[in-house]
Amino acid sequence: MKPLIQDTPGLAALYDFFKKFPAVSGRNMLRFISAFATKNPSEIQALISILQDMKEKLKTCPECFAFTELELCAVCADPTKNHQKVCVVASWIDFLSIRSSLGSFSGVFHILGGLISPLEGIESKNLTIDSFVRRIEVSNVQDVIFAFSPTPEGEVTCSYILNLLKQKNLFERIKFFRIATGLPVGMNLEFADRSTINQAFSEMREI
Ligand SMILES: [Zn+2]
Repeated sequence: MKPLIQDTPGLAALYDFFKKFPAVSGRNMLRFISAFATKNPSEIQALISILQDMKEKLKTCPECFAFTELELCAVCADPTKNHQKVCVVASWIDFLSIRSSLGSFSGVFHILGGLISPLEGIESKNLTIDSFVRRIEVSNVQDVIFAFSPTPEGEVTCSYILNLLKQKNLFERIKFFRIATGLPVGMNLEFADRSTINQAFSEMREI
């Protein structure tokens, strides 16, 4: 598509910028570019202000790594949550999906920032696994639920973390669970609907 807008360098630059974003490609990318091209200068200025403001205020929760503008995210700061039950998820999107699907989930979360994927060059050191293990070590967490997509990356990440926790003898005081059965093999949790996520949690199994 880019060669077709090559004679308009401003739009081509916008194309190159959006190309780095996940889930924006092909015709959708052109719709996006077209929408930007027709905005008036004050709307573009408003967008720049929103982005700058977001970047200035946004940080990650030191407990669970969710995005927040406060010291702790809304879940970690909630005293009515069961802080002894931690649901480990790959991404912030999975964190939101589970929160919206399981309104009744009483625990807190830990966001890894991805899954181990040798093919994509994502190693454990690129994720928040060390922080998770430290968090478990120094807290009185009793239940850990791994809510990963049933993909090879999900399996590898789960095994890797379990091995680390075994080495630290944390299996004696903590119960580990895995959701999976409700999700078709290979399905990304991000795209699962509410009933699928509910089923996956209701059929969780102890490891
Ligand atoms: Zn948090």
